[in-house]
Amino acid sequence: MAKVYDDPVYIASCSFGKDSIATILLALEHGEPLDAAVFSEVMFDHSRNISGEIPEHIEWVYSVAIPRLAELGVKVDVVRSEKDYVTLFHTIIQSGTHKGMKRGWLMGGKCNANRDLKLQPIHRYYKQYRDRGVVQYVGIAVDEPRRLARMKDKGYIRKVSLLEKYGYTEADAWRKCEEYGLLSPLYQTAHRGGCWFCPNCRIPVFCDLRKKHPHLWHELQILSKVENKSSEGFVYGRTFPQIEQKMDDYDNTQQLF
Ligand code: SF4
Repeated sequence: MAKVYDDPVYIASCSFGKDSIATILLALEHGEPLDAAVFSEVMFDHSRNISGEIPEHIEWVYSVAIPRLAELGVKVDVVRSEKDYVTLFHTIIQSGTHKGMKRGWLMGGKCNANRDLKLQPIHRYYKQYRDRGVVQYVGIAVDEPRRLARMKDKGYIRKVSLLEKYGYTEADAWRKCEEYGLLSPLYQTAHRGGCWFCPNCRIPVFCDLRKKHPHLWHELQILSKVENKSSEGFVYGRTFPQIEQKMDDYDNTQQLF
């Protein structure tokens, strides 16, 4: 049986997407215990302070969301891995078929950035509370049954969905964020947050990035020219030039309307 902790720490895992923000707002409205929220920021390149988060989103996180939550009495701890995307990209593989080659692009469905850049600093953050135990609020809505079923306690961390507890769907979470002026601008172009170089991004999202932030797209163009990558698959086996071609096709179609 799982150990019961007398005085656990209550932490909301926060990506600043609609579900995690709504979770925090529900905790406040219902007087649920909440000691802090933790946000793990993936970095593209530490040395040039380039975040890996979608630019409009990360700017809003620091200029609007964190100050607004502070006004509401919520402390936000930001954690980052020492590593960044560029480090992962240039890491030399030490064994196996691709020994001696660069890791290169992230693999869709098996993303190293998720493990090394996103989750690792959060696990390290939680570890400081190992002796007290942690109740982690996760932003999973009541209409996401499969994700709720996968939500499992881990050691000293007990996971709770306040959206489930209070019967909140994803649409309800959206409305709650709007009510407080805390809906991220990322939803104007993408339906989910994440990294701007993510292999799961859809073509229109890449097009939007290239149009609004050409310097970031240029970073990927430079990486596409790096030799000795373990794979040229930028998005689920499709090469970078193939994706750029798809983006061009998409942009051309848009211009017809
Ligand atoms: S958003 Fe994409 S690239 Fe970023 S950590 Fe998650 S899966 Fe990896």
